[in-house]
Amino acid sequence: MSQTPLRRVLIANRGEIAVRIARAASELGVETVAVYSAADADSLHTRVADRAVELPGPPVAAYLDIDVVVEVALAEGCDALHPGYGFLSESPALARAATAAGLVFVGPSADALTLFGDKAAARALATERGIPIVPGSDGVVADLETAEEAAAAIGFPVMIKAAAGGGGRGMRRVDEPGAFAGAFDAAGREAAAAFGDGALLVEKLVVDPRHIEVQVIGDATGRVVHLWERDCSIQQRNQKVIEVAPAPNLDRDLRERVLADAVRLAGAGGLTSAGTVEFVVDPTRGSHWFIEANPRIQVEHTVTEEVTGIDLVQTQLRLAAGETLDALGLGSQESVPPVRGAAVQVRVALTSAGTITAYREPSGRGIRVDGFAYAGYVASGAFDPMVAKVIAVAGDHVSALDRAARAVEEFQLDGVGTNLGQLGALLRHDAVAAGDARTTLIEQVESWDHAPESGALALFRSSAVDAAPVERGPELVAAD
Ligand code: ADP
Ligand code: ADP
Ligand code: MG
Repeated sequence: MSQTPLRRVLIANRGEIAVRIARAASELGVETVAVYSAADADSLHTRVADRAVELPGPPVAAYLDIDVVVEVALAEGCDALHPGYGFLSESPALARAATAAGLVFVGPSADALTLFGDKAAARALATERGIPIVPGSDGVVADLETAEEAAAAIGFPVMIKAAAGGGGRGMRRVDEPGAFAGAFDAAGREAAAAFGDGALLVEKLVVDPRHIEVQVIGDATGRVVHLWERDCSIQQRNQKVIEVAPAPNLDRDLRERVLADAVRLAGAGGLTSAGTVEFVVDPTRGSHWFIEANPRIQVEHTVTEEVTGIDLVQTQLRLAAGETLDALGLGSQESVPPVRGAAVQVRVALTSAGTITAYREPSGRGIRVDGFAYAGYVASGAFDPMVAKVIAVAGDHVSALDRAARAVEEFQLDGVGTNLGQLGALLRHDAVAAGDARTTLIEQVESWDHAPESGALALFRSSAVDAAPVERGPELVAAD
């Protein structure tokens, strides 16, 4: 295990996470090289990095060419590569190519990526270790007939999921047998288009659950600790919209079980970097079921940073350089700082394409904004619609919600549709304040106070229709 500090890291991503990585690396004394496709030439990540290199090809595809990314890293004299989240972050092929080229891949091994990137394999590992999983098919289903048999055996409602899924894509809720074949077909096509892999599994749908996940970190010695949990129950189309840490109103015993199972699973899977183990939880029964693990930095890592004081991106970089958890002062669970206060993150998303004409981020005590957009930014619809994350920190959950709501109202973002109005309404929702938000909250609420007139509300409401095709790029639909 090498322990040479990293000198220069290539950031194989864009947007707020590329900015975040550049800043974290720079504070560690590590130089950064950004890459960008032509559409992102003016983007903030190209400016905060020490150098920036244009990638050939169309907006999204440019970031996905493993050979080119590795080539640029070598040509720029990098010794490491950070993949961020989304894009190539869970690609074993990138981890292998980088390692073969002599680069340090900032993430776990290719084997761990392969394991955790496959929901069926991760479920099998959990079962083997006695960690509860949602009842479902035995691995991926070979065809429609097998899938229908699995669904009948576990009973409706069920969830059809892409084994390679992420970001809520390739997933369909099915309430009755008659709707199964159509949903199966749609999920398979969506998964094949999004992940190049149409393999599906079937799970029992847990009705009205909370989403509780655990931040874990592991090192090359095989040690794993957790950095407590997050509640990401506020979701739209199975994708997170608001995340909080710690999880409010969570039974103490249930919390202990979730934390312990997360550490065990990450250890069993050989996670040697930062990762997240996700569960759905039925708070009334006090039950938890593992759903998936993400072996990478996650969008909502910020709230954990704010309540622990630990910089997770710097932690990733230092672990990748061969430092141990011990060396980081995190060598045992007892050495992990206790949670201090409460943090809330909202994902600010654009709901229409166009040009941002005015842009001013909120600020003030207890407010952190991780963003990259600016007045003049052209949202083409090619990329993920998230443009900023507003993180509010305060002494307790409700104060953090209040602070976040104030910040969201302060956020000026003109010229395109946004979800700011809905975020404000969600932050002021009683169930959210009570710590009883369920994953169905957004689809259950009929009218949203403070919601703007724009298409955002319509988009928000349409999320209740699970059958609606979720297309990534086109999700950011032109206003007409
Ligand atoms: P989860 O996978 O559980 O949703 P995150 O909330 O961290 O975990 O989501 C990862 C982020 O990466 C999401 O914003 C998602 O939209 C984004 N993402 C995932 N895959 C891609 C992709 N291929 N291209 C662009 N963004 C992606
Ligand atoms: P992704 O990789 O897209 O993040 P997940 O398996 O993490 O996929 O599921 C995304 C979300 O879908 C979860 O956070 C949860 O809200 C919902 N979900 C997933 N599986 C189930 C289930 N079996 N029952 C109820 N809701 C589920
Ligand atoms: Mg997930």
